Amino acid sequence: MPSRRALRISVYGIPTLFACLALAAACAPREEVTRFQFLAFGTLVDIDVYGADRELAARAAADIETCFQALHRDWHPWGDGALGTINRAFARGETAPIDADLAGLLGEAASLSRASGGLFDPTLGRLVDLWGFSDDEQSPVAPPDAARIRALLDEGLGMQHLRIADGRIASSNPDIALDLGGFAKGVAVDRAVERLRALGVRNAIVNAGGDLRVIGRHGDRPWRIGIRHPRGKGVIAELEVHDGESVFTSGDYERYFDYQGRRYHHILDPRTGEPATGAISVTVLHRNAARADAAVTALFVAGSKAWRNVAAALGMTHVMLIGADGHIEMSPEMHERLRLVQPALDDRPRIAGDFA
Ligand code: AMP
Ligand code: MG
Repeated sequence: MPSRRALRISVYGIPTLFACLALAAACAPREEVTRFQFLAFGTLVDIDVYGADRELAARAAADIETCFQALHRDWHPWGDGALGTINRAFARGETAPIDADLAGLLGEAASLSRASGGLFDPTLGRLVDLWGFSDDEQSPVAPPDAARIRALLDEGLGMQHLRIADGRIASSNPDIALDLGGFAKGVAVDRAVERLRALGVRNAIVNAGGDLRVIGRHGDRPWRIGIRHPRGKGVIAELEVHDGESVFTSGDYERYFDYQGRRYHHILDPRTGEPATGAISVTVLHRNAARADAAVTALFVAGSKAWRNVAAALGMTHVMLIGADGHIEMSPEMHERLRLVQPALDDRPRIAGDFA
């Protein structure tokens, strides 16, 4: 019977040596594993295939790379693809064409947004742009003017402003721009897993910059993965991941800048228009990568005060959240599955309190 208490453990000041060793052990491809790598969605994608025919695996990886590049182009908020075209039309107060695939995806995003109470909100593209996080080449150096943030929030963002009919999409608010940055990687990982399965690959892991989903096993044991430490190098925890499961993490270390002693990162709270402040990292384990991706973004915004309710609304049972003060909180289900990589020399108290 697992403990129903959530854990609270300090993560600051943990030496990273043990974590690095664990990461190496968890992630180094073994002889039976063939690894394919490419860049997509601004991150390194690894496809590790266990024991399958090398030629079959190479074909699958090439297919997936082509698919990811196409999705990246189609779903870039400011590029020449479908989403960029839609966003430019919204700004002019016009409608834009939308195909069935993207319409279906936006329907799914809308239902996740609703379930998260609007904390996952793919309509905040202009805010992301205002903060300077949509520029793939350059990092921002200072926060935007507060009046400009307020002006963007004035009419209210949210998927409820969008209408799709007869192959066209319209927005009732010209300040809305679609940004699928919190969701697209998950959708892509699900599609990669589908493709691998369709080609007959029975044991593989698709890992897009630490966000992943697995098929089958690593020989006679499950796939084992590490979760990145949000402050040190290496991993903070390890996890065995079973067939079809995905593990997604959102952290404030992925894209950020420091200004006057404060960190400003890329996960925005749609209620304030500012970077969310209630967490530094959130990880979920769930069967569907797309839902997991949207959920970690929403749970990050919810922060340590509200994540339990949002997790329940999104159907997420396995959650770990590292709060702004560096303490780990997790659901009992996640506690049962995950092994924290604890440094033996850490003499700080590990259990600092319960959250009943
Ligand atoms: P993730 O790393 O999955 O949490 O996604 C972060 C990315 O999603 C950001 O770079 C933005 O493009 C976008 N984003 C930021 N804040 C939100 C939010 N509250 N809801 C939905 N997408 C967001
Ligand atoms: Mg996400």
